[in-house]
Amino acid sequence: MKKQWMFVCLLAFTPALQATTVLSNVHIHTLDPQLPTASAMAWDDDGEILALGEMTALRAKYPEAKRIDGHGAVMVPGLIDAHAHVMGLAMALSGVDLVGAGSKAEVVQRLQQFAANLPPGDWLRGRGWDQNRWPDKAFPSAADLDAAFPDRPVWLERVDGHAGWANSAAMRAVTKNLDGDWQPDGGRIERVDGKASGVFVDGATVLIDAVVPAPSAALRVRALESALAVAARNGLTGVHDMGVSLADLALYRRFADAGTLSIRITAYADGNNAALAALCAMGPYQHPSGRLSMRGVKLYADGALGSRGAALLADYSDDPHNRGLLVTDPAALQTAMVMARDCGLQVATHAIGDRGNRVVLDAYQSVLGDRVTSDHRWRVEHAQIVAPDDIARFKTLNVIASMQPTHATSDMPWAEARVGATRLFGAYAWRRFLNAGVPLALGSDFPVEQVDPRLGLYAAVSRQDLDGQPPGGWLPDQRLSAAEALRGFTRDAAWPALPSTRSAP
Ligand SMILES: [Zn+2]
Repeated sequence: MKKQWMFVCLLAFTPALQATTVLSNVHIHTLDPQLPTASAMAWDDDGEILALGEMTALRAKYPEAKRIDGHGAVMVPGLIDAHAHVMGLAMALSGVDLVGAGSKAEVVQRLQQFAANLPPGDWLRGRGWDQNRWPDKAFPSAADLDAAFPDRPVWLERVDGHAGWANSAAMRAVTKNLDGDWQPDGGRIERVDGKASGVFVDGATVLIDAVVPAPSAALRVRALESALAVAARNGLTGVHDMGVSLADLALYRRFADAGTLSIRITAYADGNNAALAALCAMGPYQHPSGRLSMRGVKLYADGALGSRGAALLADYSDDPHNRGLLVTDPAALQTAMVMARDCGLQVATHAIGDRGNRVVLDAYQSVLGDRVTSDHRWRVEHAQIVAPDDIARFKTLNVIASMQPTHATSDMPWAEARVGATRLFGAYAWRRFLNAGVPLALGSDFPVEQVDPRLGLYAAVSRQDLDGQPPGGWLPDQRLSAAEALRGFTRDAAWPALPSTRSAP
């Protein structure tokens, strides 16, 4: 089996044109329970690891090998982000970064700075706003943007990607009447006295997305180059890319063909759309370089907690009569799963609320039937608020929990307000999943969170923000050990990416 490795400490590392290399004088954490640590490693020219062990033994075994002294560096397997959005990051890098903005005024200020270099009439795009960071914690409105941008359309994605904020010029570009009392499927138009206020939640965002001019091919190439550079600079060797269109896959393929895909991308098709149909027609996709594959599909059950779109079994604690949204009808969800199953594909479904998670587990159970005990590696993305009884069902149904430690530390200031103290038992409950024997694949969900996997490792072991708050950590009994966190970003993040030699059920 091929493995990618990275050096934690900087190390002069220049592989020579020799068949075998032996690196010694290193502290290797292998994440392999059979041989947890080693001080030397041998590999061949293709990067395939030949042996791990002690220096003397390895030098005796490969007497002709080139030798490298690691000077006592620590080594771990390559870090993998098990849930992120590569083109999302790419496009975020090409628009206005609103992450961390502490008020609407700060949002407008950042927009004005960026717009100074933008041709008149061009759409102003941005992402990363979060009303929970603002003094009044209320959704913004088009009017907040109209004074500064009366004519230029502005469209700003919320930090979780589950809502958007438009100004009046952007809403005027939509031919459909956004006012009244109708609502789109799986979404919600925020309105005041029947008039669209400027915020569009989940399925409603497509109304504006549909009128935003598509980015040019050249911009997409430049944006992907920056995103790959950011991922590599942050020490990632691989990313599970959640929701990849055929056009995105074609772009990745161009980079892989040219040898410039600097990380390994495990792509998941974007719902029951063209990419899934293509996978079904032609079979799972694998680039010969091993750097790019698509063997699964990403589906959506519900929305997100921050915008109260996550589907809950009972009302939101801070919004009576609101139980969130199932963004895909359960029957349609099962149809897509049956299609994926019959095409030998893996399924990864977004589920945040306890109802969203239950809907997905019920669907997996029904669709997989007696194949549920097979090595299907179907996964739930986020598994954020889960009913206590359903945590054990992940194990029974052989389902992988794909979770993001920084979501817990980003959401902790307001999560209890949304779901109340009782439901926090199954909130971001990493330890409960591990104790139940459920594999935990960790990631960041960038660009929702920052790319740096060290932030995820830190959040996983501390459940604190970067200022060390709260003391002792939030719901500290769910913290992971450093070894468990590292395993989640390496071995257990590699596991859900199906090896090319086999397919899902
Ligand atoms: Zn995501």
